[in-house]
Amino acid sequence: MNDVVTDKPKTNLLGMPREELEQFFVDMGEKPFRARQLMKWIYEGCEDDFDKMTDISKKLRDKLKDIAEIRAPEIMVDKESTDGTHKWLLKMDASNGIETVFIPESERGTLCISSQVGCALDCTFCSTAQQGFNRNLTVAEIIGQVWLANRQLGRKKGDNRVITNVVFMGMGEPLANYANVVRAVKVLLDDFGYGLSKRRVTVSTSGIVPAMHRLNEDVDYALAVSLHAPNDELRDILVPINRKYPIKELMEACWAYVKQKPHRHIYVEYVMLDEVNDKPEHARQLAKLLGGLPCKVNLIPFNPFPNTPYRRSSDERINAFRDILIRKGLVTVTRRTRGDDIDAACGQLAGQVADKSRRQERMQEHMTRIPQ
Ligand code: SAH
Repeated sequence: MNDVVTDKPKTNLLGMPREELEQFFVDMGEKPFRARQLMKWIYEGCEDDFDKMTDISKKLRDKLKDIAEIRAPEIMVDKESTDGTHKWLLKMDASNGIETVFIPESERGTLCISSQVGCALDCTFCSTAQQGFNRNLTVAEIIGQVWLANRQLGRKKGDNRVITNVVFMGMGEPLANYANVVRAVKVLLDDFGYGLSKRRVTVSTSGIVPAMHRLNEDVDYALAVSLHAPNDELRDILVPINRKYPIKELMEACWAYVKQKPHRHIYVEYVMLDEVNDKPEHARQLAKLLGGLPCKVNLIPFNPFPNTPYRRSSDERINAFRDILIRKGLVTVTRRTRGDDIDAACGQLAGQVADKSRRQERMQEHMTRIPQ
């Protein structure tokens, strides 16, 4: 009989949470502590080559090489902005790419990561939404963004602790890729992973309410909610998932979070769209809606992209809106725009999406039907 060589796909160990990695070793007939050993190499050592892991026996390294790999996505484009913001376009497969952004500040370094190729949620002011949706990222692709950025920035700056905060505010809706986002958060928090504080790992959601409730039970994290409108009528248009989970249900999920995690607050994101959601009456409605909720409001000046019908509110309008909220007792800041010279600002991450939702096509059709 001929030898049959089966080319079994290798298991990518990048991003695998500790308990799963322990099980992986146990299944190989090894001791669970190997997981901690390997994680130290991968995350602290930025290592992807088993052969360099010299405290693991040659025999086990060979075994690992046969069945496993540590594989981050490939970097296609690497751009640095004049303000130090860094953006990477990462290849996911032949026709898809996602974007990751690093934002350095004096006291911290924030990495903004993607959770999906494109996004299915259709928020009307977001450029990712216009790209349509292709698929969820695997946990290796999510943690791979942190791994690559850490390795690249570490090499450049001679310090592999430059990433102090991770925010799921890149492409995609993290709670629509629930299982892999939970696994990624575990690795970000694990002392043998990135060891980040739970207050420094932020999951931003447009309000997938049932998943918000579940997430409270499954991991600890900082919560950001993309609210953008103070009433259902307007939010139904800007953030269409609101038709399924209206503001009242979203607020209940927010209250559940702060009740379960005393002394924590929620980041409320509010994009400033000229004449759309930036009027004084909107500010008053917003203050009423958020009254009593431990939260910080982030006003985000709209970042334009091609073919958008929206305009950024003027600084005067943003300041007037902010002052109303502050007078009503809400902690409010305007988010400084970073990296817009390399299209790395909020809502500008477009990546490369082979759109399975046919959104771009449908939009084209729609445009041609509009009477001239
Ligand atoms: N889907 C998640 C995370 C991705 S968006 C969410 O909705 O929270 C990250 C933040 O950028 C969100 O608050 C989003 O509403 C905001 N954003 C999207 N498009 C924007 C734009 N064009 N200008 C400014 N902020 C934008």
